[in-house]
Amino acid sequence: MMILSSSALMAQTKGNKAEPAHDDFPYNNEQFADIQMLRYKVEGFDALTLKQKTLVYHLSEAALLGRDILWDQNGRYNLRIRRALEKVYTDFRGDRTTSDFKAFEVYLKRVWFSSGIHHHYGSEKFLPDFSEQWLRQALKDVGYKLEEEIFPVIFNPSVMAMRTNQRDGEDLVLTSAGNYYGEGVTQAEAEKFYAERKPAADPRPIMMGYNSRLVKDEEGNLREEVWREHGLYGSAIARIIGKLQDARPFCDTEKQQRVIDKLIEYYRTGDLRTFDEYSILWLKDTEDLVDFVNGFTETYGDPLGMKASWESIVNFKDLEATARTEKLSANAQWFEDHSPVDPRFRKEKVKGVSAKVITAAMLGGDLYPSTAIGINLPNSDWVRRDYGSKSVTIGNLTDAYNKSARGSGMGKEFVIDKKTLELIELYGDVCDDLHTDLHECLGHGSGKLLPGTDPDSLKAYGAAIEEGRADLFGLYYVADPKLVELGLTPNAEAYKSQYYTYMQNGLLTQLVRIKPGQNIEEAHMRNRAFIAHWALEHGKKDKVVELVKKKGKTYVRINDYEALRGLFGKLLAEVQRIKSEGDYEAARSLVETYGVKVDPVLHKEVLERYEKLHLSPYKGFINPVYKPVRDAAGNIVDVKVDYSEGYAEQMLRYSRDYNTLPDVN
Ligand code: ZN
Repeated sequence: MMILSSSALMAQTKGNKAEPAHDDFPYNNEQFADIQMLRYKVEGFDALTLKQKTLVYHLSEAALLGRDILWDQNGRYNLRIRRALEKVYTDFRGDRTTSDFKAFEVYLKRVWFSSGIHHHYGSEKFLPDFSEQWLRQALKDVGYKLEEEIFPVIFNPSVMAMRTNQRDGEDLVLTSAGNYYGEGVTQAEAEKFYAERKPAADPRPIMMGYNSRLVKDEEGNLREEVWREHGLYGSAIARIIGKLQDARPFCDTEKQQRVIDKLIEYYRTGDLRTFDEYSILWLKDTEDLVDFVNGFTETYGDPLGMKASWESIVNFKDLEATARTEKLSANAQWFEDHSPVDPRFRKEKVKGVSAKVITAAMLGGDLYPSTAIGINLPNSDWVRRDYGSKSVTIGNLTDAYNKSARGSGMGKEFVIDKKTLELIELYGDVCDDLHTDLHECLGHGSGKLLPGTDPDSLKAYGAAIEEGRADLFGLYYVADPKLVELGLTPNAEAYKSQYYTYMQNGLLTQLVRIKPGQNIEEAHMRNRAFIAHWALEHGKKDKVVELVKKKGKTYVRINDYEALRGLFGKLLAEVQRIKSEGDYEAARSLVETYGVKVDPVLHKEVLERYEKLHLSPYKGFINPVYKPVRDAAGNIVDVKVDYSEGYAEQMLRYSRDYNTLPDVN
């Protein structure tokens, strides 16, 4: 599971403090459409040993080699569209100053950013602002042949309208453009296929369907095309394996070498039991400074939440900041025992919650350019139950968001009064980090399913419920005196900054990410919306939280922070019950009632206020470039990190150097 850059947005509500003068790192890069590009600083890289730097270098190469896999997973035409657009971009000899060309440039940058033609976050298809005629002529000029069937995919709004459709009542598989299911496969067929294969009462079930596309052959029979070395995406996977082999000798420990060996074995066989074995080795490897994720990991892109998108992150431990999360994990059992959920749903013994703060060194696949700020893996319920999980928060990315958000004006516009704004300026960063830590280190790992509960029973609502559960755990405990006692929050007031920004985000500001007339689709946004709206509704009688109007503008007002904590605790208990019992109807009702619909009048107001600030609601990162320095024999003697590569330059280089898949897969 991952925590997304909600704080990228929330961070914008914080303060107008000037950037410290000594930090002249160029965090902000170019802005286009609804996107702001940033850079992240790999603080501490130069202090790594040569062996560690070399390991980071090879793993970074492996991180970039899976890029095409994600593009193809996001839609079967994406690679062909990217290649055609890039050819026009590099070879076009006509007028580059026309509005058509400018619109083309923006479109290509958006396609790059989303790894496809659908919005990376909302999942709806975005349309070009240049004409089909113009593209046809430009392709002709550069001598590139694009199949006829692809033009409506780009230009017709009703063709492949959603990448991952989550709209209740529709056939989620047929109406999703993502490439996790072959053409013509219906939701009912897919659900039946996996239901039939579910072993009865297996206490350690594999994650069925996790690493394959489900396709229908000519006779109408369903079968899985497995992503493995000699299977689907094999040419990319073979190259990733090669880089993992290059990396292996530079691991600090044998333990990590075994992790790499097991990952290679899994990539070769595609066997999900081997994947579980790999996950266990990976989560137990907590000593190594350098660490990485490389593989099919998160299931947010599959409308049925089973099939995993490819991603990678290479990172190393931030020792200072890790001391903070270690305090939380050392007390994990205390938090579990004192949580407001029914004792039947608590874990008697919380196992192996390891938590650390990391510095990202390279982002790839579904973590690039838009990324997570925290990750908790593996996703297998039984592995988490029996072995625990590894939880990380990505310090240098959060830091880059915070630095870039200084002075954005969001706080002035949306925070109700000066007193609250000051509270947020003082404690916002600390409590935001802490909420992320609680969400990742403790939230996801807390609680248990009742015996016999099918982990997939919440179906399309599973992700929103799970993220809501982790957020609520964080919200409930960020206000706990225990945190002051542990020295993690400075005083008993600080948590209020998090309560305010959370409610403001869930009720108002996250709406800037939604287009007029659209519903909330993305799981993390749905969870924030259902938590905030549920608390608003259930605190109505006592006026715990209100939406108030001042000079025609709507603000969140929190009248009783303590009572709000009580509401969060109550909802946490209910969400845990839903998860533990697998109560699909309750999950559906909670999410649909509070987490999906948007009040059109309020939405319009928020969009208008936001527009005046000229900010981008989404952010993503340009990766650094690692340049190995070699001696005459070709051995790496140093690795330099370089931050000068531009966005388009990087994308074109990746398409050239990490080109691993054919047009059609
Ligand atoms: Zn999460």
